[in-house]
Amino acid sequence: MERLQNLIDGTLRPAQSGRWLDVHAPATGEVFAQLPDSDEHDVELAVQAAKRAAPGWNALGREGRSKVLLKLSELIERDLDEFARAESRDNGKPLSLARKVDIPRAVANFRFFATAILHFPSEAHLMDDVAVNWTDRQPIGVVGCISPWNLPLYLFTWKIAPALAAGNCVVAKPSEVTPLTAYRMSLLCEEAGMPPGVLNIIHGLGPKVGAAITAHSGIPAISFTGGTRTGAEIARVAAPMFKKLSLELGGKNPVLVFADCDFEEMLATTVRSSFTNQGQICLCGSRILIHRSIYDRFKEAFVERVKALRVGDPDDPASDLGAVVSKDHMEKVLAYIALAKEEGGRVLCGGERVVLEAPLKDGWYIAPTVIEGLDGRCRTNQEEIFGPVVTLQPFDDEEQAVAMANHTPYGLAAVVWTRDLKRSHRVARALQAGIVWVNCWMIRDLRTPFGGMKQSGVGREGGVDALRFFTEAKNVCIKL
Ligand code: NDP
Repeated sequence: MERLQNLIDGTLRPAQSGRWLDVHAPATGEVFAQLPDSDEHDVELAVQAAKRAAPGWNALGREGRSKVLLKLSELIERDLDEFARAESRDNGKPLSLARKVDIPRAVANFRFFATAILHFPSEAHLMDDVAVNWTDRQPIGVVGCISPWNLPLYLFTWKIAPALAAGNCVVAKPSEVTPLTAYRMSLLCEEAGMPPGVLNIIHGLGPKVGAAITAHSGIPAISFTGGTRTGAEIARVAAPMFKKLSLELGGKNPVLVFADCDFEEMLATTVRSSFTNQGQICLCGSRILIHRSIYDRFKEAFVERVKALRVGDPDDPASDLGAVVSKDHMEKVLAYIALAKEEGGRVLCGGERVVLEAPLKDGWYIAPTVIEGLDGRCRTNQEEIFGPVVTLQPFDDEEQAVAMANHTPYGLAAVVWTRDLKRSHRVARALQAGIVWVNCWMIRDLRTPFGGMKQSGVGREGGVDALRFFTEAKNVCIKL
């Protein structure tokens, strides 16, 4: 059985403890690999290596660093098929999705930040005849990047690419549930020309490795994507240490469907925004709010489309949904469906585990589920489920729709469907969400600020926001 390794100081090695954790394939439930069960001792080695590497990496300059990152993006692209297979096997997502979205986006992340750093400006402020100020943006030194399991390589690289481009050395932890593609990438670092110690990847459990990164005094900045509860724990430890923190957390995103929308386009996109990646994307719309005048039409057409979705072997190009990521997660999602029923919800389709034929019979599959009849205040409509489950609720007017949309502790993303230009502006501005899509979903321009309001996060990543996060601004004031 394959044993993955940590990448520390340019070398691949097991955890110092010698302990291992199992990696499961969600499609079959089988254990197919092991990863190092690392702890604070491995993090310490990584921090020391990163500190040693930092001056040299910074001295390479923007162009030198850019070349290494571009090379890494080319190598991932060269091996795209192998990466996509690893991602699908590790996460349970359809192979077609990993090929089309996850891995190309990881390639794009490196390519984008490798070139963005070449155009990253510093500002100057002239005070007439008094002085000139210019803003120096220097790398922080060693930064920590912690990422989740839902879009494993996509989100891992979304953090480490800007961190490295800006001149930092990185101690990174991928999710223990999906370590495979981060490990595959660590095998390419030397070929890309990455100096030892610049990128260190430590595998293992959140409460051990993630907590050690969070608490380490030699890591003054942390970029984290994951659940809101984990984000709160990280903030609790890091804030009194005055660390820079970027937190990309959970969501409970609304989709607002007005009667004047392009119905067919809305319908097709709403099926995608509900169930892509088994609903395990922080940007998926899980609360669909529909104008009462088209509620029944929507419900009938939507449920018909959802029933036609195929849950199946992730390797089969005909599968729309694969497996959810773990047994624990499957049980959590099924418990939420049971809760929805207790709260008075009516399951219009799905609502149960799907058992496929051998060799997939022990895999963790859930039928895409649509629920109606629930009030916006119930737990089903307030808490993040992060699976293939959506609720339908009618609204009577725009004001009520916005109030319902904003009525959760979260504020990550929202989708608005209308052909009324004025309404689209009004509603977009009134929504408490860091990202609003009008008449579309998941169109991503990597230059735009990405992140959430309220309990969906603190700070923004993407474009110059990420480069600003991963640098310290210093104002230099020179008297004229
Ligand atoms: P978790 O918060 O459980 O884990 C995220 C990462 O943090 C993992 O690497 C995890 O390790 C690690 N971790 C766990 N505990 C700690 C700790 N005490 N200290 C430091 N690190 C720790 O999230 P999930 O992996 O379950 O991901 C799903 C969540 O991520 C959802 O809430 C989703 O909304 C959110 N998300 C947000 C996005 C955004 O951009 N806003 C994008 C994608 C997902 P381990 O795997 O070992 O537990």
